[in-house]
Amino acid sequence: MTYDFAINVINQLSGLDVPIVTFTGGEPTIFNKLIDLVEYTIQKGIKPRLQTNFTNIDKLFLDKFVNLGGRIISVSIDGLEETHNNTRGKDGLFQKIIALISKYSNVISFQADLVLSKRNQSEVYMLIDKLQTIGVKVFSFRSIVPVIEGDIIDNYDFSKEELFKIYKDIHKKTDKFEGIKIVSPDPLYNIFKIIDKNIIHDGTIMGGCSIGLGLLSIQPNGDVLSCTFINKPLGNLHKENLKNIIKKINDDEFIHNVLLRENIKKCSTCKYKYLCGGCRARALHFSDNILEEDPLCFIDML
Ligand code: SF4
Repeated sequence: MTYDFAINVINQLSGLDVPIVTFTGGEPTIFNKLIDLVEYTIQKGIKPRLQTNFTNIDKLFLDKFVNLGGRIISVSIDGLEETHNNTRGKDGLFQKIIALISKYSNVISFQADLVLSKRNQSEVYMLIDKLQTIGVKVFSFRSIVPVIEGDIIDNYDFSKEELFKIYKDIHKKTDKFEGIKIVSPDPLYNIFKIIDKNIIHDGTIMGGCSIGLGLLSIQPNGDVLSCTFINKPLGNLHKENLKNIIKKINDDEFIHNVLLRENIKKCSTCKYKYLCGGCRARALHFSDNILEEDPLCFIDML
């Protein structure tokens, strides 16, 4: 994506009263004018959020970010020191992240994002403890989601039974951690909260799978996706503007089917369908059909 195109996109987002823009990648800091985009985003009344692995982040960058008014950063974490550095292939990266977060957590709201795998599952609670002590506000986790192109890392991924056990255990322990919010974008994790809080849906979509629910992903080539993990563009910003693309969402059969949830296998008869809906990317990856059941759905184990 060029700088001029990014500015054009930000202008469109501002005209649509979008409250927050996440700069992500890959790694957004390899874009050499990122800080200029952050500044422009703030000038247009939108909150910028960075999703970064911290490789290129240093004190100078964070000072600029804070001085411009930037306040939200998400950092990808793969485990404790050894696991993180080995996974990233960078000695000292974990220590650098910890040092910088400790220094800036009074002015920047940090979220740590963990992709759970067999490599790091035994470190989850020690990691949350560590992040909590340095002032991280939110710990977000999920299992591996198949990517647009490429292979799921089978050796790292969990079976349905394993995922159920891990999610249940994390949910049971969330109250133990004070000052750090534990969340997951995986609709399946939220089932535990729904049951605990006895949330009853009123027939409207209230959560779970976020497709069609106010989140859009804009790719470097201008494609607009309803889910980062599903390469099914709603349109392309080089051909039409975002307002027009959004207008078409209601008529999009794919979005309609996901939102309706009546045609999604297994979910259609589930009482949690409007609060969950499963992960459509997982369904698509494993069955080639977006409306298949989420292969990791563990509702029958509850
Ligand atoms: S059947 Fe669908 S809505 Fe129900 S818990 Fe499973 S994935 Fe969620």
